Amino acid sequence: MKTQQLYINGEFVDAAAGATLDVIDPSTTEVIGRVPDAGPADVDRAVKAARTAFEAGAWKEATAQDRGRVLFEIARLVRDRAPELAEIETRNTGKPIVEAEFDIADSATCYEYYGGLATKIHGDVIPVPDNAMSLALREPMGVAGQIIPWNYPMLMAAWKLAPAICAGCTTVLKPAEQTPLSILALASSFAEAGLPPGVVNIVTGEGGTGAAIVEHADVDKIAFTGSADVGKTIMRAAASTLKKVSLELGGKSPNIFFADADFEIAVEGALFGVFFNQGEVCSAGSRILVQRPIYKKFVEAMVEKAKAITVGMPMDRDTKMGAIVSLEQFDRVRQYQEIGKHEAKVASGGGRATGGALDKGYFIQPTIFYDVDNAARIAREEIFGPVACVIPFDTEDDALRIANDTFYGLAAAVWTRDIFRAMRVVKSLRAGIVWVNHMQPTYVEAPWGGYKQSGIGRELGKWGVEEYLNVKQVYINLSEQPIGWY
Ligand code: NAP
Ligand code: MG
Repeated sequence: MKTQQLYINGEFVDAAAGATLDVIDPSTTEVIGRVPDAGPADVDRAVKAARTAFEAGAWKEATAQDRGRVLFEIARLVRDRAPELAEIETRNTGKPIVEAEFDIADSATCYEYYGGLATKIHGDVIPVPDNAMSLALREPMGVAGQIIPWNYPMLMAAWKLAPAICAGCTTVLKPAEQTPLSILALASSFAEAGLPPGVVNIVTGEGGTGAAIVEHADVDKIAFTGSADVGKTIMRAAASTLKKVSLELGGKSPNIFFADADFEIAVEGALFGVFFNQGEVCSAGSRILVQRPIYKKFVEAMVEKAKAITVGMPMDRDTKMGAIVSLEQFDRVRQYQEIGKHEAKVASGGGRATGGALDKGYFIQPTIFYDVDNAARIAREEIFGPVACVIPFDTEDDALRIANDTFYGLAAAVWTRDIFRAMRVVKSLRAGIVWVNHMQPTYVEAPWGGYKQSGIGRELGKWGVEEYLNVKQVYINLSEQPIGWY
């Protein structure tokens, strides 16, 4: 099998050294690709290309309209290549093909949104006393280092690349070691979209490659999505060169069901909130809080409906849950299933999913634990797999206390027909995203990011581009009088 190349300065190039990483299809465990494990020399080459493009290349001269047009072109090419990209994504991540198709379409929408926003970035004029004018200019931050996880490879790349390009930055992006294939495939279209060489560089590799980006003195800013532990490591490492850092980390998001919620819709909402994308979602509603009067019936209905979730081969259009991304993650989720058996009661699932073709791959049963104590490990630690914890509560105050009793604060949802209660709960939840009577819809127009240990900064919408802009204050003296001090 041929080893793929790095994408640096508009070309596919070999890595300096020969270390490589095998890429697998987690539904079969077959090796489907091989990529370089880029070292510091490769990272340095990519950062130099990004720096040159930023300081001297065509990108510096590009107008906002130019940048917008490039983004619209990338969006068009993503749509043109959607079937091919969706299949690569499904084979590499194990997610159902229908979900991969959504991801590719959402990626295109993200490039389009920031294509439109490029011409709407502008500064301010600040009224100041004296015969003077004060301006706040918005300028691109420079070279961005971008490090992304494996759960939404194409979409996370879009959430990072699109606002950076929009702002006029240049970037070095590292996909997760497990899922480098889709963004490398898309990179072959960047030149056709009119992206000048060096504006986007893709280096594949492991955590060490990411660390080399974070440590590089010529990178101005780091944008990271992934685990809280690595987020903390990155923040520490970035301190030595005082890089700007934006972090989108994990969660243990509460999904709160009051007794007056529409029962059938709510039950489906509880399952959808936690099992979508095999539960490999940073905003997964993994703590399901259910009010006591409906608690027993709710758990039973969840179990009944969970039986209908088809765990199957990812390329099968009827599959609702595919494979877990890697052996490492599969083992991790299996371990939490075992921990859960000692901490709570199993309502359904609890093991690997088997039978036929599933026996070869990393498949897990949708698993529901109930009577879970919020202090249990399965209720506190991010599992990042199809494992739900159902927790009973009595009053609204109880629900809020349990919901907010976590180090995380990414997302939350509340289900009720009572608008007064809904709004009280919305106000009291300490989370960056709160859904009412749904969980997971995500729009490129709206801000995304965490409270507490779920992150720093916001992605998407007009907020997302701010993370790539510096503000320059300009004072203009309009008076020709002497200063008159000395
Ligand atoms: P991770 O280790 O946080 O990986 C995220 C990205 O950071 C990957 O590209 C990773 O490279 C890179 N990285 C790792 N160590 C680094 C370092 N010291 N400096 C710079 N970059 C570094 O996540 P993971 O290993 O894929 O998954 C572990 C757990 O993280 C999951 O079980 C889940 O709980 C959580 N997670 C959260 C999200 C989210 O969206 N919030 C997404 C994925 C995973 P490698 O590819 O070599 O790891
Ligand atoms: Mg890792």
